[in-house]
Amino acid sequence: MAVSTSCKGATTISSNSEFDSLISALPRVESWIDQYISEHRSSAVPLVARGFSRLGAYFLPDTLRTARVVYVPKVVTPPLGALGIDGFTAFEQGCYQGITYKDYLFVESSHRDSESLHFHETVHIVQWRELGPLDFLFLYAKGLAEDGYDNCPLEFMAYRTQQEFENGTRIPDFEPKLIQMVRDEARNAGFLG
Ligand SMILES: [Zn+2]
Repeated sequence: MAVSTSCKGATTISSNSEFDSLISALPRVESWIDQYISEHRSSAVPLVARGFSRLGAYFLPDTLRTARVVYVPKVVTPPLGALGIDGFTAFEQGCYQGITYKDYLFVESSHRDSESLHFHETVHIVQWRELGPLDFLFLYAKGLAEDGYDNCPLEFMAYRTQQEFENGTRIPDFEPKLIQMVRDEARNAGFLG
């Protein structure tokens, strides 16, 4: 996701038991996401149909071909509290320009022409795909809880590469390198062997 300025939420989750209850609630978050996607599928457009000219220099053709974008008046986060996950109230109340659920980008309509924002969210698509839904959700929530939004590893990766994109930095083999970063992050978190 990409946040609007001055709207960043902190979290208050910290203890092991809170992490345990977070893990057990994540399948409910995934179900909510699947339902949300199915409600918006008919208004989704292929990312490639948007005609952004620079994304293809960074992402592999298959990634761009499978990505879908839905333009929404307001970006919606999963209702974590209602799904039994405490401690993320500020996150739920944040203001976001975009959010990625699996291979669907949900972008606030007023930012529909921001190629940079679509770049940022496509980084999250690669993260979702490489980690799988439950590990993505856990790593994202763990990062928010432990490091805050700016330093949550999955966000840090998206913002840092977005900055390089905005600077026009050419990065040969960007997506394979991104995949390696995601796998390194998963390994650091104790996933993967
Ligand atoms: Zn993001």
